[in-house]
Amino acid sequence: METAEIRRRFLKFFESNGHTVVPSAPLPAIEDPNLLFINAGMVQFVPYFLGQAKPPWDTAASVQKCIRTPDIDEVGKTSRHGTFFQMNGNFSFGDYFKEQAIRYAWDLTTGSVEQGGLGLDGDKVWATVYLDDDEAIDIWHKQIGLPLDRIVRRGQEDNMWSMGIPGPCGPCSELYYDRGPDYGPEGGPEVDEDRYLEFWNLVFMQQERGAGPAKKDYEILGDLPKKNIDTGMGLERMASILQGVDNMYEIDEVRPLIDKASELTGKRYGVSTSHTASESHPDDIRFRVIADHVRSALMLIGDGVVPSNEGRGYVLRRIMRRAIRSVRLLGYDKPALPELLPVARDCMSKSYPELAQDFDRISSYAYGEEEAFLKTLKHGTTILDTAVAETKTEGGKTLSGSKAFELHDTYGFPIDLTLEMAEEQGLSVDQDGFRQLMTEQRQRAKADAAARKTGHADLSAYWQLLQEQGPTDWKAYEGLVTESRVIGILSEGKPVPVAKSGQIVEVVLDRTPFYAESGGQHADAGKLTGPSFFGEVVDVQRPVKKLVVHQVRVLEGELVLDDRVEAEVDSEWRLGARQAHSGTHVVHAALREVLGPTALQSGSFNRPGYLRLDFSWRSKLSDETRSEIEEVSNKAVRDDLPVSVKYMTLPEAKDFGAVALFGETYDETVRVVEIGGPWSRELCGGTHVSHSAQIGPLVLTGESSVGSGQRRVEAATGMEAYRYLARERDLVSQIAEELGAQRGDVLERVRAILQRSKDAERELAGLQAKLVSGRASEFAQNAKQVGAVKVAAVQAPEGTKGGDVRNLAMQIRGHLPEDQPGVAAVVATAGGKASIVVAANAAAKAQHVSAAALVKAALSGKGGGNDDVAQGGGVPADQAPQLLDAVVRAIAA
Ligand code: ATP
Ligand code: MG
Repeated sequence: METAEIRRRFLKFFESNGHTVVPSAPLPAIEDPNLLFINAGMVQFVPYFLGQAKPPWDTAASVQKCIRTPDIDEVGKTSRHGTFFQMNGNFSFGDYFKEQAIRYAWDLTTGSVEQGGLGLDGDKVWATVYLDDDEAIDIWHKQIGLPLDRIVRRGQEDNMWSMGIPGPCGPCSELYYDRGPDYGPEGGPEVDEDRYLEFWNLVFMQQERGAGPAKKDYEILGDLPKKNIDTGMGLERMASILQGVDNMYEIDEVRPLIDKASELTGKRYGVSTSHTASESHPDDIRFRVIADHVRSALMLIGDGVVPSNEGRGYVLRRIMRRAIRSVRLLGYDKPALPELLPVARDCMSKSYPELAQDFDRISSYAYGEEEAFLKTLKHGTTILDTAVAETKTEGGKTLSGSKAFELHDTYGFPIDLTLEMAEEQGLSVDQDGFRQLMTEQRQRAKADAAARKTGHADLSAYWQLLQEQGPTDWKAYEGLVTESRVIGILSEGKPVPVAKSGQIVEVVLDRTPFYAESGGQHADAGKLTGPSFFGEVVDVQRPVKKLVVHQVRVLEGELVLDDRVEAEVDSEWRLGARQAHSGTHVVHAALREVLGPTALQSGSFNRPGYLRLDFSWRSKLSDETRSEIEEVSNKAVRDDLPVSVKYMTLPEAKDFGAVALFGETYDETVRVVEIGGPWSRELCGGTHVSHSAQIGPLVLTGESSVGSGQRRVEAATGMEAYRYLARERDLVSQIAEELGAQRGDVLERVRAILQRSKDAERELAGLQAKLVSGRASEFAQNAKQVGAVKVAAVQAPEGTKGGDVRNLAMQIRGHLPEDQPGVAAVVATAGGKASIVVAANAAAKAQHVSAAALVKAALSGKGGGNDDVAQGGGVPADQAPQLLDAVVRAIAA
């Protein structure tokens, strides 16, 4: 049965049993700060299970795309672990429970194919249950009829599910399929998890757990008020069973990739005849790694991840590199992805048609990454080989941590690649040393970042203030002025009672209208005024959540703890900030309108008059595209679209179509800023204008690359945009005036001038060459007799270029008498360095006078060429005469 068919039957089965079919969430786990990728079907439903949000349905079913990074190292070595896989799940939110869940799983899997089931042989199914879950045992045994010897009790670590932290938990029951003696020893899942293949896990969420270790030895606190069901059936594992293949890499959605790789490399897949994954030949493992990783990369890029050096992008980069390396190790050294990726697309687009539609974008990232990696590989391999050779000559067996770090830091060589390649050459790598250096680097970066924001890296003083005084009453959305009380003053990170004129201190107020830098928006500027104090607010940060800290320069008087002050944001500044931030949303929406929804913002920054926006896009924007984006933006300004703010839960915001950004973390209630209704909907905490016309003109001032697959646009907003245009206009006026031309003719005139200057340069160069060669015969006539050899030793006229020096030497040689040994030596100086060219005639060579030897004599062994003509240089210009002397001396000797 095809994988797509199993998937279809699964959804149909649960739909006809009243479940709502919910689409898969995208792979990047944008809502969970602790997770890079969705790794189970239940992840998108977590707020419902935790009781944070009310589920819109009582029961649901989905086929969730999953990535499990911890399983990457298992790929190909077991029969059942994919980096990417699909988890089919049915869920009950306080509706049905244990009995029905078990019944559903049994009926679907063992139900006959004719009647919509999967047709598994029930006699080969085993079930595990939690130690004391007698209820589950009863259901399996008495109601389903599973014999007791195929029901296995397992402990907390295996069969008690939780999220690793306090919260819901519950026993689970896993379904296994016995694949027979070819796959390993008898005895059930306790004995062999490869022969007995786990294909479905049923979680009975019925209790609440306490703190403690993630997986076991934690306390169970009591029963949940509402019991839930969460299940996960591995689609690929089920497919491998139903298709009768040895492992999940040989199913219809993956196997064609193995075959293609085999065709490319000329190596055979299936070297080992054993069915057991643990007895696989290394080549077979490589084939599976290639197939798994190429497919995973396709799915990841399809969901908006692009290769980069951190986070999700790094996982993608790692698996792509591993796939590419594996292909090369199997003997194919051309770019492989253009051959493999379309195969993966054809396998997967049955279930995910968007992959085919979006394939141009996906493949351009993938192929670009492979090209870049092949370059890195070429370059880094030389460095690695040198390091390996050095280590070996010194009799070492371990490549140093600092070498590995250098390879990583300078050449982009991931550590696993270094490990793999060093191992191939019989060396291990000092991983601890490497990790130490990485940690140090990371800590430096972290401390730097913290220090840049707050002046120091220790946050304890802030935490203490927050604990004692509570969160800041934050009024940035409501006005520009508040009456406030000074509840904390910090100098160099330490609490102080008072700050004097001239000092810069950090000030915490009970209430503030100041916007602290966040979400890409620069901090507000403004002032604090007290009865006997005046200070300027130069920065505002939120070093810990909910605590606003003002950096204040005391200009007059003294600021004393507990003072009453007036906090006032500079209204011009705030207007500029609102224009810039709304402008950022407008440009983002315009980008997406012009380039499509994949041009997703990855970072932004704005302050009055200026904005920049980084987004995922591989190629440089053409001038036309830039103009189009600018025009769409300015039309949105002209249309005077209303800007509005709504508060809602995160799932609501997503349904609403609000753009949430990868890698951002959001609170439970989010703020959605709309410009022109659905045209621009973003989760955002910034300050905005109320109508788009208030943004004023938007002028794109720059477009550049910021790392792989990321572009940046910059724009001027409001008055700054006007000033920018005015400056450009003045510049053109000045140039026109300087040229004595009409403004409209400037471009043509400049082109003409450039052309003329190019022509003149060329002419000048010709004249110079002629001038120099015109003197060749004069130089030859002045040649001196050194022993039997006529030597013309000449300093070329200042400014003679490299090629001309050589010509001059050859021409002088041509003017020397042929019947007598003759040598022309010409030195020239340029850019503070002297160089020399020596040309010897045939008669000289007959006397064993070699041009190359003479240059080497002058340059103490350096230089290159042959007996005829040779050259060298690189010595300081003032040594030019010595070079000639040295040649003459060498001839005399
Ligand atoms: P295993 O012990 O075999 O790694 P697991 O206990 O980690 O499995 P669960 O977390 O219970 O698996 O996930 C539910 C189901 O998802 C499993 O029963 C299995 O069918 C499937 N599954 C889990 N991990 C993978 C993977 N890496 N590749 C393919 N399918 C998987
Ligand atoms: Mg696992």
